[in-house]
Amino acid sequence: MNRRAVLWLIAIPLITGVIAVSWQQGWLRPPPAYDPFAPLHLHDRPTFVTAWKLLRLSRPEDCRAALATSQLQTLPVSDREMTAECRLEHAVRVGATGSETGLRFNASFLASCPLAVAWAMFERHALQPLAQQHFGARVTQLHHLGSYACRNVRGGTRRSEHARANAFDLAALTLSDGKRISLSGHWRGRDAAATPEAAFLRDLRDGACRFFRTVLGPDYNAAHADHLHLDMGGFSICR
Ligand SMILES: [Zn+2]
Repeated sequence: MNRRAVLWLIAIPLITGVIAVSWQQGWLRPPPAYDPFAPLHLHDRPTFVTAWKLLRLSRPEDCRAALATSQLQTLPVSDREMTAECRLEHAVRVGATGSETGLRFNASFLASCPLAVAWAMFERHALQPLAQQHFGARVTQLHHLGSYACRNVRGGTRRSEHARANAFDLAALTLSDGKRISLSGHWRGRDAAATPEAAFLRDLRDGACRFFRTVLGPDYNAAHADHLHLDMGGFSICR
């Protein structure tokens, strides 16, 4: 055996061992926000792996762990099955004053665990930064139209994600300077550059699409003319 082959025989196990130890010790791991295997933490900056981590929230233990890193004040709700398709599993009730960033909701609401986590991510990483960017203000109040309802999709035969408290309808919000912005009053569709409020709402819709599976607003159909429907169901749509 020549000298080069002997060197390789020594070097390969050595390099492999160094890599294995470094991985085990966490020296080679990317920061948690970029590590697809790290648990989702609400304070982590959203990155290209965040959507993948949000998908993993369908595992109740992963979802509970993520929710525990949020500021949301929630009460667990016992599992209930009203009908085969209308049920609550691992749901929580989010308090009217228990938001992620200190805003007030018009009412407390039921939420599936994934919906609660996605909401907290959206509130922290999209809603408040966009209000700051567009108006130099904070969102202090948020008006929603509810989350749980045992019903079908409007005009359809399929059960709505609302039937599992897996959807939330955002209608309006109030900023710290007193300005009130509503979907019904300020959405301008393709003409989003028309007013600062319309531009903000368009960015808000796009921001929601980073965290929720389905986002449907006034551009989708008339049934959504006055709110953004945000859900964590199976369909990935952003309109
Ligand atoms: Zn809805």
